[in-house]
Amino acid sequence: MDYNAPDSIQDLQYFGEYGGVNPSISDSSTYTFLNAKTMFDTFEGNTEGCYLYSRHSSPSNLYLGEALAALEGTESANVTASGMGAITAVILQLCSSGDHIVSSRTIYGGTYAFMKNFLKRFDISVSFVDITKPDVVASAIRPNTRMIYCESVSNPLLEVADIPELSRIGKSKDIPLVVDNTFTPLSIAPARLGADIVIHSLTKFINGTSDTVAGAVCGSTEFCLALKDVNDGAGMLLGSTLDSLRAASILKNMRTLHLRIQKHSDNAAYLAREFEALGLRVVYPGLPSHPGHELMKKQHMAHFGYGGILTLDVQTLEKANALMELMQKENLGYLAVSLGFYKTLFSAPGASTSSEIPEAEQIAMGLGEGLIRFSIGLDNNIERTFKTMKACIEAIGIMPVHEVSK
Ligand SMILES: *Cc1c(COP(=O)(O)O)cnc(C)c1O
Repeated sequence: MDYNAPDSIQDLQYFGEYGGVNPSISDSSTYTFLNAKTMFDTFEGNTEGCYLYSRHSSPSNLYLGEALAALEGTESANVTASGMGAITAVILQLCSSGDHIVSSRTIYGGTYAFMKNFLKRFDISVSFVDITKPDVVASAIRPNTRMIYCESVSNPLLEVADIPELSRIGKSKDIPLVVDNTFTPLSIAPARLGADIVIHSLTKFINGTSDTVAGAVCGSTEFCLALKDVNDGAGMLLGSTLDSLRAASILKNMRTLHLRIQKHSDNAAYLAREFEALGLRVVYPGLPSHPGHELMKKQHMAHFGYGGILTLDVQTLEKANALMELMQKENLGYLAVSLGFYKTLFSAPGASTSSEIPEAEQIAMGLGEGLIRFSIGLDNNIERTFKTMKACIEAIGIMPVHEVSK
């Protein structure tokens, strides 16, 4: 892709109140005004640089928002108390009763449950489609469609969305493309490829220390301000506000994001290649055998690789559970949901993060019960990690594909 590296984070410069090298943390829920007129104007949204109440905005949240806008190359960004807080606010901001959404069928389990079960209450309908087929996406659009929704690399099947093509389809009908980029910060910059709104669960790679739940919406200044509108903004009124202390700690972690993403990607690529060489059923967008590999190659920032997530299909849930327990015992990682930690995390999505998706639909989309999702950690000696993992795989009796089909 011919676009500039998303490196403008390094150009950000904020000082603390006393010249501190980190911005001061705003430790207040509410703010005083010298005169009553300014308070009224702030309520009406007319005063730049004035803070009213921290559910609306706070200096710490604005600093983090600026860093996220720089990361994604958008005009602005709002932070939220969770990834789901960002997703639900965006959906309810864009859609009203009677509206329709075209969504990828392979998305985060919580997003899927919200769209499939919760939106019924508002009479908002959703068509779940195979996002890798743009013609299917185009033909699912109806006169009342208000958004196209997908993940840049999907959870947990690692399907790669053709963001420029989906954006073109959306733009031709004036429908915004909303992309959840949680799996691939820095590697893919959806807004630079044509997405209108980019969502993150900061809980994962961006924060990277598995100590915080947070989210973000990156988009135009107009959309971000609309979300915060005191009269009808879904962000403001649903109230999913991030605490300033957490915002400040996430901003500090973001400063090493580029180093961490490179290492996660390098380690995942190494393990994926080695697993494939053993004949195992490994899915990783960096492998030429992945159906979305060429597409990802066109869209991603080569420098940051293909991301830290891979899956391994060991056929049965029993084997998946046995392998994960053994790997944890061998201190190769933790049997835990979530991703982006320094330590490798593994879980079986069919029985955990995607359990909201009914079994028949899981099978239809290729989500087998023996699928293990790995978020590969920052291991310094990945060769040693691989050797130990290989021993675990052999101990559990997981067969290469060609021997299984014999
Ligand atoms: C975890 C996750 C979310 C939800 O984020 P929370 O911070 O847990 O609310 C949304 N999308 C994806 C792809 C995720 O991995």
